[in-house]
Amino acid sequence: MEESRKTLAIVLNRQDYREYDSLVSFYTSEFGKITLLARGTKRLKSKLAGHLEPMNLIDLMIIPGKGRDYAAGAINQEVFFSVKEDLNKLYYAGLGLRWFRNLTPENEQDKPLFFLLLEYLKTLNNIKQELIREDGELLFSFFAFKFLTEMGYKPELEHCLNCHKKICPGKNYFNLHSGGLMCESCFAAEKNREIREILTISDNCVKILRFMLENSLGLSLKIKIDKKLVKELATLTKGFLNFRN
Ligand SMILES: [Zn+2]
Repeated sequence: MEESRKTLAIVLNRQDYREYDSLVSFYTSEFGKITLLARGTKRLKSKLAGHLEPMNLIDLMIIPGKGRDYAAGAINQEVFFSVKEDLNKLYYAGLGLRWFRNLTPENEQDKPLFFLLLEYLKTLNNIKQELIREDGELLFSFFAFKFLTEMGYKPELEHCLNCHKKICPGKNYFNLHSGGLMCESCFAAEKNREIREILTISDNCVKILRFMLENSLGLSLKIKIDKKLVKELATLTKGFLNFRN
């Protein structure tokens, strides 16, 4: 008989399965994203169900099954209370979990990705309630660019994607499809391209992107940037994510 395995895991999602069971997807430190069967979680007495709520950080025990492996035991490490009781925090946490569910591959260990998600949830948990409304979008942009970079989509921020010349301050563009900056003359030469692929980008936005890739998530809360720039960044983030979907 195969042995059980243990790992730290963050619950991404839980859905009903058969009469009393659930299918639960996790992002784990040891095996990347996995989906397991959790037996009996819809029964009133289920102890497991309480631990398998989305966002929880748990010690998870996995037992091999005939078709699918199953979650045999879980102990809560962190339940992120302050996120669960604040709708704004919950919204941003939900976005993070959803992108992990949508984009990460199954059964591929990636510890930096695991710890990025954990850091994001911890940061959301610790941030003051009154700050999340203002800083939530900035924090999420920070998280999303770090996430995509770790997934292999690091944006090119130093040289033009087309002509490879160094990007100078002035009129520049961000190509959402290819993931990086384009200079003005290359943009002019590509006028026939679908416009939804390319956004104009301000010099300050370029600076923030460079800063984000080199610094930890927590630092996003220390910088103060104006609302217009946060909006520009949020639009770019959304577009960049959607092109990976
Ligand atoms: Zn160029």
